[in-house]
Amino acid sequence: MVAYIVYLQQIPELLRKWSSSHDVYVPTRVEDHFYEFRPWQEKMHIAWDYDLAYSPLKVFFMPPREDLIHFDLHNYTASPVIKKTRQLLFGVHPYDIKAINQLDQLMGMDGIDVNYQNLRDNTVIFGLEPARLAETAFWAGVDAARVDFGFDLFWTRISPGAFLVRVGSAQGEEMLKMGSSMTSATAAEKEAARRIHLRTAARADKQSFGFTWTQVPEFMNKFYSRKLYWREKAKTCLSCGSCNLVCPTCYCFDIQDETDDHLKTGKRYRQWDGCMLEGFARIAGGLNFRPNAWERYRHRYMRKGKYIYDRIGELGCVGCGRCVKACTAKIANPREVFREIREAIKNEV
Ligand code: SF4
Ligand code: SF4
Repeated sequence: MVAYIVYLQQIPELLRKWSSSHDVYVPTRVEDHFYEFRPWQEKMHIAWDYDLAYSPLKVFFMPPREDLIHFDLHNYTASPVIKKTRQLLFGVHPYDIKAINQLDQLMGMDGIDVNYQNLRDNTVIFGLEPARLAETAFWAGVDAARVDFGFDLFWTRISPGAFLVRVGSAQGEEMLKMGSSMTSATAAEKEAARRIHLRTAARADKQSFGFTWTQVPEFMNKFYSRKLYWREKAKTCLSCGSCNLVCPTCYCFDIQDETDDHLKTGKRYRQWDGCMLEGFARIAGGLNFRPNAWERYRHRYMRKGKYIYDRIGELGCVGCGRCVKACTAKIANPREVFREIREAIKNEV
């Protein structure tokens, strides 16, 4: 493992250099207990110890609303709208890197999504070992406490004034070397970073499921037809879709065309959609194949616990806990749902 030591006082100079070629985003405190990735500015406070960024990082690769094509109805011409903004996300936790890795697979599975891919190809990711856990998080339980790929650099704060920086790509190393001389990490410093990770993972493990995530797809499959459970669970669901919108692994969208009042020009755009919204499964003729909230609720958990696993071999949940926070009805909690279902299945055997 190639790793360097970077001192806290070297970071502003690096940020200045990186921001000359990239839009740089860092975690910052927006309000009490509320963090977001925001554009870096001189003298900005970086929340190295943030627990969770409220918005999912998919916003950087598939914005909530995005133009795909602009067309001219007079001349019968159309041109694609493809953004290639160079961006750097500095301070991404492993569970969010895992979510991006999943999106990379899913968005490229049935043909390349050029809009997503262009933004993704132009984004540099610097990971960060979490210093704190959100109380709603359960990422250790879904194998998201550590990632071995999907980052260009990975930063671990090994003392108040120093970071050990693991290299994940040649581009990452090149960007790091834009600063004044970098010293290679010693074996003792690498060991210090390893111990910090183990401590974090052990803390996270206490907020986990209490069983291995690999059991989830099978018991979700068995539980699909238990309507009573799903109806009871979803009876207070507001069908607001907040759990979809904040989820870093949800990627559904809807495509619409829009023209000006004179029918001269127009655009095709996409915007986020969510399987918890009433209109998500409505098709031509007004038929809705998931008209009830409990059917949509069940679908969401089947997707997280089974359907995504069937496609990529991982749960469609990285345990960030954003949905748990966002749900007004306090019913969007994958850890709770998976635990309850496992208990019910166990008691039947
Ligand atoms: S389902 Fe919830 S906990 Fe899991 S990744 Fe999505 S927002 Fe995070
Ligand atoms: S589970 Fe919660 S967040 Fe999700 S749609 Fe229902 S009320 Fe909204």
